[in-house]
Amino acid sequence: MNAPSQHAPLLDGFGRLHDNLRISVTDRCNIRCFYCMPEEGVNFVPHGEVLRYEEIEQVVRAAAALGVRKLRVTGGEPLVRRDLPVLIAKLAAIPGIEDLALTTNGVLLESLAQPLAQAGLRRLNVHLDTLDRQRFLDITRRDDLPRVLAGIDAAQRAGLPVKINAVAVKDLVEADIAPLARFGRERGIEIRYIEFMPLDSQGLWLRDKVLTADAILALLASEIGPLDPIPDADPRAPALEYRFRDGIGTVGFIASVTRPFCLNCNRIRLTADGHLRYCLFAHDEMDVKTTLRDASLSAEARQARLVELIRANVSAKWLGHEINTERFVPPPRPMYAIGG
Ligand code: SAM
Ligand code: SF4
Repeated sequence: MNAPSQHAPLLDGFGRLHDNLRISVTDRCNIRCFYCMPEEGVNFVPHGEVLRYEEIEQVVRAAAALGVRKLRVTGGEPLVRRDLPVLIAKLAAIPGIEDLALTTNGVLLESLAQPLAQAGLRRLNVHLDTLDRQRFLDITRRDDLPRVLAGIDAAQRAGLPVKINAVAVKDLVEADIAPLARFGRERGIEIRYIEFMPLDSQGLWLRDKVLTADAILALLASEIGPLDPIPDADPRAPALEYRFRDGIGTVGFIASVTRPFCLNCNRIRLTADGHLRYCLFAHDEMDVKTTLRDASLSAEARQARLVELIRANVSAKWLGHEINTERFVPPPRPMYAIGG
């Protein structure tokens, strides 16, 4: 589809081009991963404060007019939002959008994979840290491993390319690293190990609890076999990718702590309650919901205002998070309320 080009490219103050928008459709979730949500007592955004599908669509149209080409729908757990395929179809139809992906915990995927594929979803990442049922329960506080595995099967049957996101917490998932990689090798699925980040709601993160990309690589090499780095196909993609030397399978690393990729960042984020964020770790954000719900604005004026807000948010972007400095202060919102 030809991209509309009525605006200059979306560049931040450091010359980084932004073409990637991550959209959180809810802060709610049907499981409770300890590194993201507390077990009980979560204060969710009231339903009326969550952007409606038509509102999300308007923001994406404005972003697409500014050159955004890639979308990822996330949450909270996006599949708990009713009629998600309806939103996917709306987003897939927006001129300029070339890639439409989803990040999910997979619990509700079995029945939704086919409708999502039909609606225009291109690919998905399923979050799965372990193939061990007890450890899954310990991490997520829910006994849903069989449902996630059924969801992955259904996604592959629906023809959706799947990657797995595995959060790597030290002294917890070491025994899961190689079994996941073997599962990926058998199923043609790339496992992406994500270093534990300081985004949990209870302040549990400690540098000592990060199972690093280097440690995981060493584990994989000793338990499965040697790996070789794959030269960056897209230097702005956050994952460092490796291929097993026997030619069977690849793994990736989102090493936000030990190898930050801020210098190549091309992302902005829209929260479920209608705020734009230029970084997972940002402290400031911009409200778009007031504009979306301002009945005094014409459709054209609203769109023009959204374009301004998106550009202003990108212009305000910092050089990068400061996890590795003493200045680092975790963001006020935890992961589930930002959209991972
Ligand atoms: N519920 C979906 C899921 O779990 O995939 C989508 C939202 S979730 C917040 C997005 C991703 O964030 C998950 O795939 C998980 O891997 C990652 N995540 C959550 N908390 C994290 C943390 N503290 N550190 C690193 N990654 C985290
Ligand atoms: Fe839910 Fe995803 Fe957070 Fe886990 S990481 S609690 S699945 S939002």
